[in-house]
Amino acid sequence: MKLKDLCVALDSKAPEKLYACDGDKVGLFVGDTERDVKKVLTVTDASSDAIDYAIDNNVDMILCHHPFMFEPVGRLTTGDILQNKLYKLVHNDIAVFSMHTNLDSVPGGLNDIFADLLGLKNVVPIETKKVKYYMMVCFATNEYKENILKALFEAGAGAKNNYKDVFFEFKGRCHFTAIGDANPLIGIHNEPVDIEEVSFSVLVSETDLDRVVETYKRVHPYDVPVYYLAESPECDYLPSIGRVGDLEKELTVPEFRELCLKAFELPYARCPFNCDMSKKIKRVGLCSGSGMSLFDKACDMGADAYVCGDIKHDAYLHATDRGKIVLDLGHYETECTSSVVLADYIKDIDSQIETINFEVLRGNKLVLKLSEKR
Ligand SMILES: [Zn+2]
Repeated sequence: MKLKDLCVALDSKAPEKLYACDGDKVGLFVGDTERDVKKVLTVTDASSDAIDYAIDNNVDMILCHHPFMFEPVGRLTTGDILQNKLYKLVHNDIAVFSMHTNLDSVPGGLNDIFADLLGLKNVVPIETKKVKYYMMVCFATNEYKENILKALFEAGAGAKNNYKDVFFEFKGRCHFTAIGDANPLIGIHNEPVDIEEVSFSVLVSETDLDRVVETYKRVHPYDVPVYYLAESPECDYLPSIGRVGDLEKELTVPEFRELCLKAFELPYARCPFNCDMSKKIKRVGLCSGSGMSLFDKACDMGADAYVCGDIKHDAYLHATDRGKIVLDLGHYETECTSSVVLADYIKDIDSQIETINFEVLRGNKLVLKLSEKR
C-alpha cells in the first residue's frame, strides 16, 4: 500500500480533526508519500533503538504513539540526538507516523483500554468534543437527483440517530446565462436559460462534511455544482480524553492499588506519602500518560480516586488536600498498549502489511498478554 493511502486510512481510524487535542502534533512526520509500505514497526516511542531496529530489519514505517517531533528542526546534522534520528530515517527511507491524543480519546483507544484493564463499569469520558451538523442544500435537474443523493448518502449525509437516507426537496426554476469558458450541460453560451430544477437538502455531520462536499462536486454533472451550507442546531458529542467509571465493588486503597498493579503487570505504583489508606474507592477517574490536568474534573464527576501516568509532588499534595486518592502507574506503563492498538489498525487496513510490535520484542508482559488476546 502506498504511504499516502495508508496515512488516510490510519487517520480514519482515529481522525485527528475529531479526536486530537488542540495543539497536538500527530500524523506523518517523515516519509515519501509515494513509497510502498510492506512492513510496519509499532512502538510507543520512535526512540533511537526503535529506529536502529527498523533500519536493520527493512521496516518501511514506524507507527508510534508519541509525536516524533514537537518543535521545528532548523538543521539536519548527525551531531544532535533528534537530528541524528531524523537523518537516519530520511537516509534509510523510513516513514514515521504518530497517533497521540487522537489514540487516547477514540473509542477503543488507550483510555478505554485503561478502563477495561481496571474492569470499570458505566464508563464515561471526562472531556467531550462537540460535533456540529450542517444542512447542505444542493441543486440539480430531477433526472440527476437520485444518483447524486445516492452518492451523498454513501458518503455519510442524511443520517442521524435511527434514521438514514433523509432529505427534503422542493421544485423550483433555475435561470442562468453561460459566458466565457463555461461548459454548460444545458443551453448554449450567451443565451439565457430557464429550466426546472429540484433543490434537495441533507443533514451532514462535521465528521463527514469534507467527504460529502468532495463527493457532491465529483458526481455532479454540472461544471459548477452549486450548493450552500447552513449550520444546524443539531450536534453530537464525541468522547475526548480521560474516563470515569465504577469499580464492581468498593475497594480499600491497598486493594485498589493491588488491582492496578495486576492490571498493568507492575511491581509498584506511586501513591502520596500522606494519603488516607482507610478511604474507600468505588468511582475511578483515569487518563493514560500525563493526564493529571483532568484530576479536578474527574473529582467533580464523583471520582474517589484518580490514576494516570505522571504525577508531580504538588499534584499529590493538591489531591490529598481534596481528600482523594491518586496513583501514578507510570507514563510508559499506561501507554505501551498503544503498540497493540496500532498493530490492530494496520492489520485491519491491509492484512498484507507485516507488523512487528517493538514492545513485544522488548518482552513487555502487558503488551504480550494484550497482543495474544486480540
Ligand atoms: Zn504520553
